[in-house]
Amino acid sequence: MTHHHDLRESGLRLTGPRMKILHLFEHSTQRHFSADDVYKNLLDAQEEIGIATVYRVLTQFEQAGILIRHHFEGERALYELNRGEHHDHMFCTVCGSVSEFFDSSLELLQEKIAKKHSFKLEDHVLYLYGVCAACQSASLN
Ligand SMILES: [Zn+2]
Ligand SMILES: [Zn+2]
Repeated sequence: MTHHHDLRESGLRLTGPRMKILHLFEHSTQRHFSADDVYKNLLDAQEEIGIATVYRVLTQFEQAGILIRHHFEGERALYELNRGEHHDHMFCTVCGSVSEFFDSSLELLQEKIAKKHSFKLEDHVLYLYGVCAACQSASLN
């Protein structure tokens, strides 16, 4: 389900750094990147884009709705492509891995709670903090 973003539609000019950063988000198996991750991935691909430019492009993409910015506790900001589909996140406090989940009963429950409080729900952000399966088994050995 690749949803290709059109830079021109967002009003941003097609510059080399913008195209390369967007390409990275659209064609990588990794979904959540810090600015450092983006910088290092581009370096590995022989693309020399300065860290200041990476930060600037990520901010522009966030403002244009192309990327979603997450701020997990004690972590740098992580960015992911806005695929127009909602999901929530689990964050491992040991290794920093991020995994995604979606639970329709949980979504429904939030709507019910909001309704009960006459609250017009527009959005929510849910982060679960804990220890991922890999880190749990590593600590047993
Ligand atoms: Zn972990
Ligand atoms: Zn995500």
